[in-house]
Amino acid sequence: MELGHAIIAVVRPGDRKQHGVSYVEFETIIGLEVHAQLLTRSKMFCGCSAAYQAAEPNTHTCPVCLGLPGALPVINREAVAATVMTGLALGCSIPSYSKFDRKNYMYPDLMKGYQISQYDLPLCVAGAVEFLGVDGPRRVGIRRVHLEEDTARLVHRSANGRAYSLVDANRSGVPLIEIVTEPDLRSPEDARLFLMTLRQILRYLGVSTGNMEEGAFRCDANVSQRSIDGTIVGPKVEIKNMNSFRAVERAVSYEVERQRAALLRGEPLVQETRGWVDEQGVTVSQRTKEFAEDYRYFPEPDLPPIFLTDADVEEIRQRMPELPAARRARFVEQFGLSESEAVLLTEERAVADYFEATVDGDVAIARAAANWITGEIFALMRDRGLTIDAINVAPAQLRRLIALVDAGTITLRSAKEVLIAVHETGSDPDALVAERGLAQVSDAAQLEAVVRTVLAENPAAVADYRKGKKAAIGFLLGQVMRHLRGTANPAVARQLLEQALAEGA
Ligand code: ADP
Ligand code: ZN
Ligand code: MG
Repeated sequence: MELGHAIIAVVRPGDRKQHGVSYVEFETIIGLEVHAQLLTRSKMFCGCSAAYQAAEPNTHTCPVCLGLPGALPVINREAVAATVMTGLALGCSIPSYSKFDRKNYMYPDLMKGYQISQYDLPLCVAGAVEFLGVDGPRRVGIRRVHLEEDTARLVHRSANGRAYSLVDANRSGVPLIEIVTEPDLRSPEDARLFLMTLRQILRYLGVSTGNMEEGAFRCDANVSQRSIDGTIVGPKVEIKNMNSFRAVERAVSYEVERQRAALLRGEPLVQETRGWVDEQGVTVSQRTKEFAEDYRYFPEPDLPPIFLTDADVEEIRQRMPELPAARRARFVEQFGLSESEAVLLTEERAVADYFEATVDGDVAIARAAANWITGEIFALMRDRGLTIDAINVAPAQLRRLIALVDAGTITLRSAKEVLIAVHETGSDPDALVAERGLAQVSDAAQLEAVVRTVLAENPAAVADYRKGKKAAIGFLLGQVMRHLRGTANPAVARQLLEQALAEGA
């Protein structure tokens, strides 16, 4: 037995200390740096199209984005406006004076040998975002949002046993914003939830596709550990190469455990950049601080500074759509939806728009519209892999369908059939109801005949019912429906069934 050695174990904040064991309670500190491509028509500093995803390599290029000597950049106003709008949505202040700087480094994907970025005077500063974390509402400070340009894309190949790389400059000069958070996140799960909230905001604004798989939305995570009592403060490690929200959460979780274990063993941890290897589920060291780049930033001499008046900023604010959190709250308030329904319906702006277009100011049908969209429409989207825009049911057609059910013209079951048919044929609900003979049967005489047939065909269920198994009526009602292809008025049919069963007893 060793004496004079404290036994150290890791517990989560809030866990109790146990007798005879001294614990180190660690806290995780996370700050994120997010890059998002802007959805402008042209690139950041030239007139080339920024829509490069489906283009042949090196077809969206010019002397400016190829970095040829003597070519001069021109600021894309649309990109500046999109950045300012993003900053406003993230609660930032917009300084009246901002400028671009040169960030110098050598890498084959950087056509000019420097990137035009922003250093000390970004377009947006000091904001905050609220989101729903795993343990409730959380707030994350936004240090800055700046505007820069994307690099070219390197395509790594090999042939005849030799590896080589190709350069596609279509992406070179695509407008890119960088959003830097304060180190306010405390868990890998919250990092993921925050990122999803951030992407949702960018999508609502329409400034970015936010598509992580296509590289339009990329995230580096800075992670460190400190003990609650302040005696241990680990260095900050930056993690790169995460291509999905899940990967961010996994990478940060891995890093948390790696750092805690090292700190507890007394092993030195270094400030470094590590890469996430998704297949192996580990981070590996890429570059330590000693080899950190010196970017030799200086003001970009080929571009004028940006002056923004209060009126300029106000004009951009006016163009901002309602943001997800506000819309969610309004849906609960105005339409009497539950919080979870409001979350589902505001997840995407297009869905929220569809919902409101369906309701069309008639609050009385909001409940039905919410049920239809989160039920049948979402199922249709899921089954066929479609976005809401590809659903061939106009909001007015869904509204008509709701009215037809409400008026008792068709049953809910028929309505579901009609919805699919509208999507597939594009015909109107009324035409389909007539064409397919889906009008609801409420006529007692007609239903009674069917009820008698069903009772005669199902003596076992009838006997069950009479022995006290009242649930058997559900089966018999189903049979009535089957006979009438779902058009029987369920309330009338049930009443007639009960009557007939009681009489025969
Ligand atoms: P650097 O000077 O190394 O770039 P910054 O202070 O500029 O560091 O911060 C870069 C990112 O690192 C920011 O997202 C910030 O929130 C995050 N960060 C800063 N300090 C910490 C820390 N102790 N632990 C985790 N992340 C941190
Ligand atoms: Zn160009
Ligand atoms: Mg930094």
